Amino acid sequence: MANIGVLIESGSEGIKETNFGVITAARRKPGANVFAFIINGDSAAAKDVIETYGVQKVVAVTVPTPDFAVRPELQAAALAAAVRHFELVGLLGSASPRGRDLLARVAAILDAPLVQDCLDINPDDGTVTKSHFAGRTTATLRLTGRPWVCSLRPNCVEPVPAPAAATLETFQAPLTDSARICVKAVKNSGSGAADLTEANIIITGGRAIGSPDNFQVLRDCAAELGAAVGASRAAVDAGYAPHSMQVGQTGKTVSPKLYIACGVSGAVQHFAGMKTSKVIVAINTDKDAPIFGKSNYGLLGDLFEVVRALTDVLRKRRQPE
Ligand SMILES: Cc1cc2nc3c(=O)[nH]c(=O)nc-3n(C[C@H](O)[C@H](O)[C@H](O)COP(=O)(O)OP(=O)(O)OC[C@H]3O[C@@H](n4cnc5c(N)ncnc54)[C@H](O)[C@@H]3O)c2cc1C
Repeated sequence: MANIGVLIESGSEGIKETNFGVITAARRKPGANVFAFIINGDSAAAKDVIETYGVQKVVAVTVPTPDFAVRPELQAAALAAAVRHFELVGLLGSASPRGRDLLARVAAILDAPLVQDCLDINPDDGTVTKSHFAGRTTATLRLTGRPWVCSLRPNCVEPVPAPAAATLETFQAPLTDSARICVKAVKNSGSGAADLTEANIIITGGRAIGSPDNFQVLRDCAAELGAAVGASRAAVDAGYAPHSMQVGQTGKTVSPKLYIACGVSGAVQHFAGMKTSKVIVAINTDKDAPIFGKSNYGLLGDLFEVVRALTDVLRKRRQPE
């Protein structure tokens, strides 16, 4: 029976939702044993959440070193040791900043094939799909080496619950060398908002926003929606938003369940970064704007009027008079 590992990530609010799509993808191999690896977290609490998605084993990966939590090289070495120990055919994670970093290190240690930011994966036959040339083509790759290592773009695979009783164990890797890199601090990006790449809902402002202060209109709406706020390159180049908020070919690649583009024309370079969004809504004053041809829903109108009205409706729904 094949063993497949999933790297579980936690945030300030506990286990990240993006893990569930990754577990669902791992489960696609018929009869697979799915191992959930927790690095430096509360594995007992995590188990209760994770096992509802069909994980057989929750493994707390540790190293007898006090600074394990801030040593990515040591974490990768411990994870690689766990992959060997549990004889995994593959290791999957989320294409988050941390996932990409750790999985690349693990692949290098194991000399394993690595594909980052996959749109989909079939662990049964080792094929993955991946966007190329700024989203213009989608390639299907077959991984022939074992174990393979892949990261999956957040929200690309719909999570499907499959409750199962998981066992909990600890894997202590026989390592002590703290290595060269130490994480001193993790700071939120300038926007202070939820991370774009892992957000379920994104509301983005384009050049039409007109000033940094006007982004507040989107932030108010985002607060009601539980969304992250993005920006087009034109908005970033104009100084209305920091580059950390830019979506597109030279910004972030996002894949939310709902993407609301406000005053964005829909240039190919912008589309490259958000085309895998499940539902795209465009708000624009120009009926011929290309974004309307790429959206599921279009609202012809002034973004400030539409977004303020939406925020009001959401607020009233939350706090009925
Ligand atoms: C190599 C390269 C890389 C690039 N990378 C990126 C990238 O990563 N991300 C990115 O976004 N772009 C990128 N671009 C730039 C891209 O080509 C576009 O120039 C940019 O996306 C345009 O941004 P925009 O839609 O905000 O502005 P515009 O194209 O100027 O569109 C503004 C839109 O707002 C509408 N509008 C005006 N007023 C209102 C209003 N009151 N209410 C509603 N709608 C209104 C207008 O009708 C218009 O459609 C890149 C370009 C190159 C060459």
